[in-house]
Amino acid sequence: MRNKDEFLEAQKYIPGGVNSPVRAFGSVGSDPLIIDKGDREFIYDIDGNEYIDYVLSWGPLIFGHCDKDIENAVINTAKKGLSFGAPCLLETELAKLVLSKFPHLDKIRFVSSGTEATMSAIRLARGYSKKDGIIKFEGCYHGHSDGLLVKAGSGATTFGYSSSLGVPNDIVKNTHLAKYNDLNSVEECFKNADIGVIIVEPIAGNMGLVPGSDEFLNGLRKICDEKGAVLIFDEVMSGFRASATGSYGLNKIKADIVTFGKVIGGGMPCAAYAGKKEIMELISPLGGVYQAGTLSGNPVAMAAGLASLNKIYSNENLFINLENKSKFITQAMQEAAKENGIPLQTDVRGSMWGFFFNENPVTNYAQALKSDTDRFAKFHFEMLKKGIYLAPSQFETCFVCEPLSQASLDKTAQAIKESFKAL
Ligand SMILES: *Cc1c(COP(=O)(O)O)cnc(C)c1O
Repeated sequence: MRNKDEFLEAQKYIPGGVNSPVRAFGSVGSDPLIIDKGDREFIYDIDGNEYIDYVLSWGPLIFGHCDKDIENAVINTAKKGLSFGAPCLLETELAKLVLSKFPHLDKIRFVSSGTEATMSAIRLARGYSKKDGIIKFEGCYHGHSDGLLVKAGSGATTFGYSSSLGVPNDIVKNTHLAKYNDLNSVEECFKNADIGVIIVEPIAGNMGLVPGSDEFLNGLRKICDEKGAVLIFDEVMSGFRASATGSYGLNKIKADIVTFGKVIGGGMPCAAYAGKKEIMELISPLGGVYQAGTLSGNPVAMAAGLASLNKIYSNENLFINLENKSKFITQAMQEAAKENGIPLQTDVRGSMWGFFFNENPVTNYAQALKSDTDRFAKFHFEMLKKGIYLAPSQFETCFVCEPLSQASLDKTAQAIKESFKAL
């Protein structure tokens, strides 16, 4: 077992041995796998074990590992230089492609991570509304910038902090928390503070998979229109995962600013925020909202993103197929749960699927927290033993990729059946 030794070695030099806390397997009581390589839906650890991957780099790899089109785009572009810090044609091409699919968005700015996209979107929205107060929802994660690290779901939930050390109270005092899928709690915030911005994951994926209802999202749109507040949909995860045009593709509800990440970079560091012309033109150099990035829009990331999105838009049946794969898995889970009398909630949005070991349907963070995390840890352990790689937390969303085969789906269903018996 090289994995154990190498992880000890990593921990000597890297805090916790990981460069992002969600990668640690602390909450499921083992060491993370150190990955050597990937191929389609499979990953291989440094001991040579094969796993079917439902994490997919936490979302970006909708075409699985080592997709030939994305790989070739990256290699061919890299040969011409990695970055220039100057405009390149691929930026305009990717901008045009994304904006053509979201008619309510006029302009887009590329950055290098989802954190940067949401942080910049908030700054821009504040610059536009001229108000400091923002509303975020309990259990929604928008990256790790100071003002957004309050009840931030995902890793922050797994590790039991409602917020982070080192975040000044002076900053979070402008972040007002509301309850997901609960418009009354939003109205309450507006009564108590001068709110200029609402940021929300329209399909929450960072407290487990918890979709916002159409009524909730329409309600947010209406409240923002009434109060003159800017509505930001954080579609970093859902953007090209829930449908070919994210939450927007499912309900046509239009935010003022939308943030993208993950799939938009095809596995390279790339993210973006896009919005209406009058808002986006407030960004420097046109306007007074400053935001910059040395590697923003670099040709290699743009090429990977373009290859990924072009593949999405050239396959009409892609999301039908992906959703069928997702449903195949949650159905297998439902059957196994029923057979063994285990309370379970599941949901699917396109290539995203999620489950809670929970007696009741989950529509918000408080309900998600009532899930049985011990049972999750056992389930995770059993599945890993059988070659199925799931995110090591009850509060994450799982993903399927396009190359995921029926044989792998059958293997997953069999592993589910056996794992539930052991719970
Ligand atoms: C992953 C994620 C982020 C942060 O993106 P990074 O690239 O990890 O900084 C922000 N918002 C949502 C909804 C996400 O899922």
